Amino acid sequence: MTEHDAERHAQDADIDSDPDEPGVEMRDANTKAGVAPVDGNAVVTLSGGQDSSTCLFYALQVYNEVAAVTFDYDQRHGAAEITAARKIARQADVPHTVLRMNTLAELGDAALTNAEIPVEAEATAIGGNTFAAERGLPSTFVPGRNLLLLGAAAAWGLPRGYDNLVTGVCAADAAGYPDCRLEFVTALNEAISLATDTPTFAIDAPLIHRTKAETWKLADDLGVLQFIRFGTHTCYEGAHDDEHKHDWGFGCGECPACDERRRGWEAFDRARTIKR
Ligand SMILES: [Zn+2]
Repeated sequence: MTEHDAERHAQDADIDSDPDEPGVEMRDANTKAGVAPVDGNAVVTLSGGQDSSTCLFYALQVYNEVAAVTFDYDQRHGAAEITAARKIARQADVPHTVLRMNTLAELGDAALTNAEIPVEAEATAIGGNTFAAERGLPSTFVPGRNLLLLGAAAAWGLPRGYDNLVTGVCAADAAGYPDCRLEFVTALNEAISLATDTPTFAIDAPLIHRTKAETWKLADDLGVLQFIRFGTHTCYEGAHDDEHKHDWGFGCGECPACDERRRGWEAFDRARTIKR
């Protein structure tokens, strides 16, 4: 990202929406959301997007102590993401750490870490993300991203007493990233337990089999729907201002991330309108 882009994104990221204060409707949320409390502490990987932010409020219902970690890896929509993550952590009243992981941008060429590469649902090989193209994956795919990021989150959390790691990875996402599948999460859980000699270490991925509509429903059940709707950032282009405000939140409305968020919202909204 160029300096100019970063500046523009930082301006775009200036969220002046007025999301509902979390905590207001949360009293009976754990029964409503069907989540059982766990006697332990959890670190949540918080990107500032819909999924990870919903996971943060889920974690607050489930675990004793909760902290959030956000990664700065020169990602395409980084300034908007990190600004959103800071605000969300503040409103959820949890300790928040931003970890620099810019090595990711040096490792390979993906649209997520190189603004020259276009965001495509399926990568094109020439002049783009060849590794992703060979595997039929989106151009945003960064090989090893969740391996490194979740490993870093565990490495940050374990010495600080957070034996659980909550992540918003979702196998049902249209992107189909291999490091968002249950098999990967299960294997990584085992690997981190072994690597750190911590048999109690557990990765909790509450969204792994949820559709986006079901994730909206979880936010509703947790009592934070309005907050997730207008307080989180998903768009790959960093669009986050009044000109880019929709029923489903902020975004350019065109990129794959916006498209998925919008379609999920519409399915959720239809279902609850029918129920009423
Ligand atoms: Zn977008």
